[in-house]
Amino acid sequence: RTVYLNGQFIAENDAKISIFDRGFMFADGIYEVTAVLGGKLVDAEPHLARLRRSLAELALVLPLDDDALLAVHRQLIARNALCEGLVYMQVSRGAADRDFLYPPADTPLTVALFTQDKAVLDSPLAKRGMNIIGLPDMRWGRSDIKTTQLLYACMTKEQAKARGADDAWLVKDGWVTEGTSNNAFIITRDGAVVTRELSRALLPGITRGALLALVQEHGLQLDERAFTLEEVKNAAEAFVTSSTSFIYPVVTLNGQPIGDGTPGPLTQRLRRLYIDHALAGSV
Ligand code: PMP
Repeated sequence: RTVYLNGQFIAENDAKISIFDRGFMFADGIYEVTAVLGGKLVDAEPHLARLRRSLAELALVLPLDDDALLAVHRQLIARNALCEGLVYMQVSRGAADRDFLYPPADTPLTVALFTQDKAVLDSPLAKRGMNIIGLPDMRWGRSDIKTTQLLYACMTKEQAKARGADDAWLVKDGWVTEGTSNNAFIITRDGAVVTRELSRALLPGITRGALLALVQEHGLQLDERAFTLEEVKNAAEAFVTSSTSFIYPVVTLNGQPIGDGTPGPLTQRLRRLYIDHALAGSV
């Protein structure tokens, strides 16, 4: 693969960063993941807007404008002949002798991008649906910032795997916040699409935002509010959204079926609507 590192397109084996990089030492960095369909970026604009927000929250000043960032994304897609998958972008505060305080503002940031091949449209989990477990949300208080500090998500995914599940939904004070790497949705028995309102407790998912617009456009009932695992158990359907899955049905919680334990009809309709949106809106 060809990757991008600090202004250069190079072979992945030649891409090296310092052991003093603050991304490595402190997880002092942010990232974005944008899906690629038919060689084009899906929802590039809101991904760039969220990247700007993450940078601002961490007082990182990136000397590249949106056009330059888009050009790097497109170059990487072209150089790797990527048709379907994703582009990952990470920005860290760069390399400096280890100190909790931020280094001088002129310290160059580390900017790295790479592509991954992934079958997004034809994924087995989209057909089978995910088995999830509930776990406590023990992350820090700013889960709305897309930082590279993902250890708790790794730990909970491992725990889900050890228990024979695909993923976990995280619960804080009795309420589901989100999945380990996706936003959590249920569909109630009277057909309302329910997902938690945005706050510092969860990531403002780009797929979540696009889907909510589609839900409203198609006159479906939307309820932006927190819900409990008890409500998930009694829901008609459940699903997750993310740039790397689009929409995956969720069919069991803690080993118990949700609805009839198969991907729900409204979930499957929403997945098709989202894919149509993604194909139409990619650039
Ligand atoms: N929540 C978390 C914790 C995530 O890591 C992700 C994906 N990175 C999402 C939600 C989904 O966000 P998006 O739709 O922008 O991929």
